[in-house]
Amino acid sequence: MKRAPTTVTVRFSWDRPTGNFWVDTGLVVLLRHFGEGEHPVKDVLSWLQGQLLQPSGNRGQYYDRASGRIREYDKVNWVYPTNLFIKVSGRANKTTVKINGEEETLFTEPPKFELNLKLTKKPDICDLCGEAAPLTDAAMWMYPFVVDPQKFGTFYPGTKRGLRLCARCALAGLAGYLGWLWKAHKDCIHFFVFHSDLQELKRLHEEVLGPLRLEGGRSGTAPVAFSGPYLHETTWGLLLVLFSHVRRSDQLSDEARQLLASLLGATDVPPPAPLTLYAVMGTSGQAFSMKALREFSQLQRLYRVYEAWIEGLQDLGIERVNPHQRLVEIFRQFEAQQGQNQETIWRDRIAWAVLEFNDPSPFIEQFLFEARAREKNPRPLVWGTIEILNQYLKEVFGMDEQFQRVLAGFGHSLGTAAQARNEMGLLYALRNAKNPEDFYRVLNDAQFRLEITIPEAILRIEKGERIAGVPWVRVKTLLSIYAMNAFLRKNAPQPERAQIEEA
Ligand SMILES: [Zn+2]
Repeated sequence: MKRAPTTVTVRFSWDRPTGNFWVDTGLVVLLRHFGEGEHPVKDVLSWLQGQLLQPSGNRGQYYDRASGRIREYDKVNWVYPTNLFIKVSGRANKTTVKINGEEETLFTEPPKFELNLKLTKKPDICDLCGEAAPLTDAAMWMYPFVVDPQKFGTFYPGTKRGLRLCARCALAGLAGYLGWLWKAHKDCIHFFVFHSDLQELKRLHEEVLGPLRLEGGRSGTAPVAFSGPYLHETTWGLLLVLFSHVRRSDQLSDEARQLLASLLGATDVPPPAPLTLYAVMGTSGQAFSMKALREFSQLQRLYRVYEAWIEGLQDLGIERVNPHQRLVEIFRQFEAQQGQNQETIWRDRIAWAVLEFNDPSPFIEQFLFEARAREKNPRPLVWGTIEILNQYLKEVFGMDEQFQRVLAGFGHSLGTAAQARNEMGLLYALRNAKNPEDFYRVLNDAQFRLEITIPEAILRIEKGERIAGVPWVRVKTLLSIYAMNAFLRKNAPQPERAQIEEA
């Protein structure tokens, strides 16, 4: 007599994280549903399959042997976009029947979708959690981003042979699909996964991401202020939405706002655990092709920058009622129509600079000179752009406020005078200056042709080619931005002011 196989179980507990962002996300999903303790692998698998499979809307036929008739069934498939990763299809036995004299091969029952773990008998060390247990070779359905371990090697535990996982990690890997946020943009698709301590992650999912998650659309579940085909702009679009809910929210409870505030370090008490955001971008065809994977671990510092901007926009009287919306408009503007496409590369680079605490001004300059100024009716930058740029440079690069004012004032005169004399070429010459000598030659030329005076502070070049402690090229870039913006402001029709004057 054969002995019945013992039920294989897995044990979930809140104090056994793996440290891997994907598997930990899945563990949180499983712990929320099953709770701590031992659970049969087949129960967990069957629940996960139920969550991830959905009717496709199509119907299929099978041959029912018992009645000798052809019957219809509702086809199912893995819910989008998990179907880009879970390539296991439904299976059933087939038979050949004669229909109207023609032979046809039909299923003998509706196909069953079954994921199998195929665990080894002998225990070995799991690549993700390090525990000794029977293992299985990781397939993409357990770990979507095991697509190119060579290229993205640093994110995997140093193995070229592919991952080998224990049952708990493999199941959590499948559950991870229920914990991500995604955003589709044409054939690009972005995935976002937050990572923290398991308990904090649970509360983040339950109280914050749950209520904010968008449901039912083909464009995604991630709430974003804006998105595009690039990773950084879309990540920033998501963070802006998340940050906005700390101050006030019509979707989150007060406790949830409090939790979010504490995770982002916006309260007096130190954050309970580090919070990291992983962003993955790729293109989707039949399968997913990963193009980039980035980790953002300074969300608390970023939130402080956001807070300072919101306060700055209010204090300067630029936008008192809805400073968040103004900030969104400021970042959204860095796009331009190019042929059939809305090109957003400048927005992506500016978002990259902010997310990495680098200098965004070269990309703002590039946008103004290469995109905006070449439009049919070029507009100046959204009011507040220059102000938040200066605030950022002051806080992140320690730029002197007094010097910023001198530069802004001079840049404004330069742009206004250039506009009055139709000398846009001078601004391009300034923008294209390659070294300090070049820069001063252009300024000299401008002084002569536009009859303006260059402030002393700009003329003093110091050791290391710095001006007032700032690398000369940043001074040049900021002057170009101020000047071109003033030029475009004078250029653009100003209906509001005209109306006031007429009244
Ligand atoms: Zn494991």
